Amino acid sequence: MDCALIQSELAFYHLGAILDADRDRIDAHLLGCQECLRAYFAIKRQIDSRRERPSDAMRVRLANSVRKKFRPAKLVRIQRWLWRPIPLYRGLVAAALVLVVAVLAPIFARDAHPTSLLAGEERVDTARVQSSTLSLF
Ligand SMILES: [Zn+2]
Repeated sequence: MDCALIQSELAFYHLGAILDADRDRIDAHLLGCQECLRAYFAIKRQIDSRRERPSDAMRVRLANSVRKKFRPAKLVRIQRWLWRPIPLYRGLVAAALVLVVAVLAPIFARDAHPTSLLAGEERVDTARVQSSTLSLF
């Protein structure tokens, strides 16, 4: 874990302006890193001595700024989006839509080309062998 990265987030950590996952990550790091723990206590003392608390709107802006600065790469975001948890009902709706399309597509495909045969031309069923096609000569 990068101590510089952790220390840059300690103020937000102390103010509660970070995500729970980031809080857990910083908690784990602080338990094992004396340097960052000292930095955290220094920041905590400095913030608490001011007795100024940022407003909720400011906390949101701070969190958004941090998120924007440390935004994961596009590939990582795509992977997260693909592997996000999807509620069961959405999966069932998607499966039902696929089933409806699979059932209706052949019907619409058949109706889409009703004039594919020329007038007077006989439709040939290639799956059924006709007696006229069995003669060799
Ligand atoms: Zn550290």
